[in-house]
Formats: sequence, structure tokens, C-alpha cells
Amino acid sequence: MADRWDYEAFWNEARDRIRDTITRQEYDTWFANMTYHASQEGVIELTVPSTFYRDQVRQRFQKTLEQALFELSACPLKLGYVIRSVTQPAAALATPPPPALAETSAPQVIDAPPRRHRQLNPDYTFERLVEGESNSFALNAAIAIAKNPGRAYNPCLVYGGVGLGKTHLLQAIGNSVHDGLPDLKVVYVTVETFTNEFIQSIKEKTGHRFKNRYRSADVLLIDDIQFLQGKVETQQELFHTFNALYDANKQMVFSSDRPVSALMSLPDRLINRFERGLNVDLQPPTYETRIAIVTRKIEERGLSLDNGIVELICRNIRSNVRDLEKALTKLTAYTELMQRAITPPIAQRELQEFFAKPEHLSITIDGIQRAVADYFSLTPADLKGKKRTKAIAFPRQVAMYVSRSLTNCSTTEVGLEFGGRDHTTVMHACQRINDRLKTDATLEPTLQKIMNSLRQKSVA
Ligand code: ADP
Ligand code: MG
Repeated sequence: MADRWDYEAFWNEARDRIRDTITRQEYDTWFANMTYHASQEGVIELTVPSTFYRDQVRQRFQKTLEQALFELSACPLKLGYVIRSVTQPAAALATPPPPALAETSAPQVIDAPPRRHRQLNPDYTFERLVEGESNSFALNAAIAIAKNPGRAYNPCLVYGGVGLGKTHLLQAIGNSVHDGLPDLKVVYVTVETFTNEFIQSIKEKTGHRFKNRYRSADVLLIDDIQFLQGKVETQQELFHTFNALYDANKQMVFSSDRPVSALMSLPDRLINRFERGLNVDLQPPTYETRIAIVTRKIEERGLSLDNGIVELICRNIRSNVRDLEKALTKLTAYTELMQRAITPPIAQRELQEFFAKPEHLSITIDGIQRAVADYFSLTPADLKGKKRTKAIAFPRQVAMYVSRSLTNCSTTEVGLEFGGRDHTTVMHACQRINDRLKTDATLEPTLQKIMNSLRQKSVA
């Protein structure tokens, strides 16, 4: 038989499960004032403020909770209630009260309901995001959304490369709504978790619970939707969730590492949904913004680094904010372990791995085909093959364009590497990309991203 700690853990888990299927308001009304009290003989006792409360909880949730407890513990656990009230001294239990419970009638301190949101990192707030040219538009859109969820800019897609603050921004919206509009239910999830839970819900036949969890959200934040590529059933589920929330004017914010136009293998109907809303991008921070970010983080961490070193870091680490943070962490560890102040030569040596090295020309067409294929969730063979569907023809043009830009190969040589195509095909592909660059603002960042990944690999 499980001991009392297990009982408490089972209770917490069962309550969390139910939390996911009801609105925030319902949860706060019925569960915030209920605490685990004790357990014995297969009964978990909870303290509640009144008999009215107890009756309501029994009627609304008891069956579901006991079912969840059974699933979790494999024991037929029952729920009992202790009324926590000075004016009502007798303990009221759903099951016959064991004598040992007599003292439970004493009034107890009521814990304030936990204000922390389970899925949100409390550090990811708007205040902690340094604003700069590269993120200003996205940041202001996010603030507007958090003030007025469901009205301004719905849905919203934030896209940008790794480490540029997508997760931070999504969670900042969540934290801001959670604090400022406490009646609204905020749900944050990565596509990875969404997918895993979805699969789990199919296995366990708990699809309704899964659906409720997402469809009862007032603000739904879904991170990293590029990982939806290739997951057909998850895409479908998200599509239905999207429609349900959209019709109910609930706010949705998505993030992706690439613009919608480059989410190639998603079905058009889902792409249309994302295109409907506001699309904003996060660019790598400029030098001035990097200085502002590093200066702020030094303060937050209580470090001391002189300006020369801050400049050294910001001149050499240009890719993203996460790398700036990693560099600071490394220097902090160095000071702590070595008990020595950081000088420029020490910084230079310790941060070697983060500093960009000069490019050299080891980029091959083969490597380009792999990188482009990866980016679009295709294989190099697709790019070299004969198929001319849109999903392949465009990535192929991109790969030819990149080959011409980053290698010294002629159009003839490039054509040969792409399944023996004629050099005029390569010329035509490059022309198409050049034309499209003029009309499609999302293409430039896509190309930059692919080229940067190749440059990084070539120096690795
Ligand atoms: P992404 O999800 O785009 O990969 P994250 O949101 O995880 O990036 O951001 C990486 C790290 O950089 C986080 O610790 C985040 O707090 C920090 N960060 C990103 N942008 C900024 C900014 N403008 N100001 C301060 N910190 C930032
Ligand atoms: Mg992220």
C-alpha cells in the first residue's frame, strides 16, 4: 500500500490533470482553497472552507478526480473532506471519520493559491528583454497582444533564428497575461510537447482531455512550429484547435525558426491560417543592442567586467543572444574557479570557441544540397532528382542560387551536380530567386539562414 507521501503526490497529480481541462476561473474557484490534509485507509482527505464548497466539489469533480487517482495509483482511492472552519468544529468527512482526525477541525492557515504558472519561466518577462532595432517591432506587437489578447493581431507568428528570443517573447506574453489578466487561462507549449501529449492521448484514449486542455485556453502560445513538418496527424489536430480558438476570438501566438513561406511541408490550409495574422521577425541584434544586452546581463548577474571586455565580446559574437549569455557564463565560471579578474587576453582565450573564425572555402555543392534539403525537410536526392512539384522545385532553385553564391563553380558545373541539368536551368533558377527577392521579404532571411549554417559548418 502506498505511503502518505505517495498519496499526496497522487493527489497533486490528479489535481493538475483536472486543472488542464477546466478554465482558470473554475480552477481558482474550486481548487485554490483546497489543500491536502492527510490520508488513511485508501482515503485522501482534503480541507475545504465550507460544506457548500464540499458539496460542489463532490458534485462537479469527485468522479473525475477519483478516476484520475485510480489511473495514477492503480488503487481505488477515495476522497474525503475536512471542513476548515472555526464556526463548524466537527470534521465533516465523506467517509466515516476515523477518530484520529478529531484534531483536524482546528483552523488552518490558508495558503495563497500558487501564482506561478506551471509552464512559464518567471524570468521571461518583457522587462528583461532589451529592446533594439532588431526586435522592436516584434516586442511591441507582443506587448499589444498581452494587453488585449484576442483582439489585436490574432494569430501572431514570431519567426527568427535560434537564440534570438522567440521563447522569451512568447513566455513574456504568457507571464504578462497571467499577472495582468488573472481570469484568463494561458497555455504555453512547444510543438514537441504538444505532439507527445497528442500521441499519449491517443494511446490512453484520453483525447477529450487533450482537446479540452487546449481548447479551453484564452491565450495559446505554441513554440517552434517548424517541428510540425512531417507530423500529419498533429498538424490536423492543431488545425482543429486553431479553428476552435479562432472562432471564439481567443489569442494564439506561434513561433517558428523560419517565415511561413519556408514552412514548405505544411499543408496549405494550415499555412493560410498562419498567414491570416500578423507575422513579425526577430533579427540578430546589432552591435549597439548587443552592448546593451551584455551590459544588462552583467548587472543582473552581479558581475564586473570592464568595457573593453564587453566590447570584445560584442564585436566577436554576432549570431545571437544565447551565445552572448554562454560567453558570460563561461567568464563567470572562470572568475569563480580561478579567483582571478578577467583581462582581455584571458577573455580572448576563454571565449575562442564562441568567436567567429575567418571563413575559408570548404563549402561544397554537396554540403549545400544537404543544408538546403535539411532546411526544407527534403533529401539531397530530391534536389538532384526529376520531380518538379512546387515543394521541390523552389528548394532546388534555392540550392542552385546558394551554390552560385558560395562556391566558385560555373553554371555548367552546378548543373552537373544537380542531376546533370543544363547550365541554362541553373541560370534560370538564379534569375527566379533574384526576382523573388524583390517581392518576397521573407526570402532574404531564409537565404541568410542557410548560408550562415554553411559558413558555420565550414569553420567547425
Ligand atoms: P529562441 O527561442 O529564439 O531560440 P530564447 O527565447 O530561448 O531564443 O532566447 C535565448 C536567450 O537569450 C534567453 O535566455 C533569453 O532570455 C535571451 N534573450 C533573447 N533576446 C533577448 C533580449 N532582447 N534581451 C535580453 N535577453 C534576451
Ligand atoms: Mg526557443
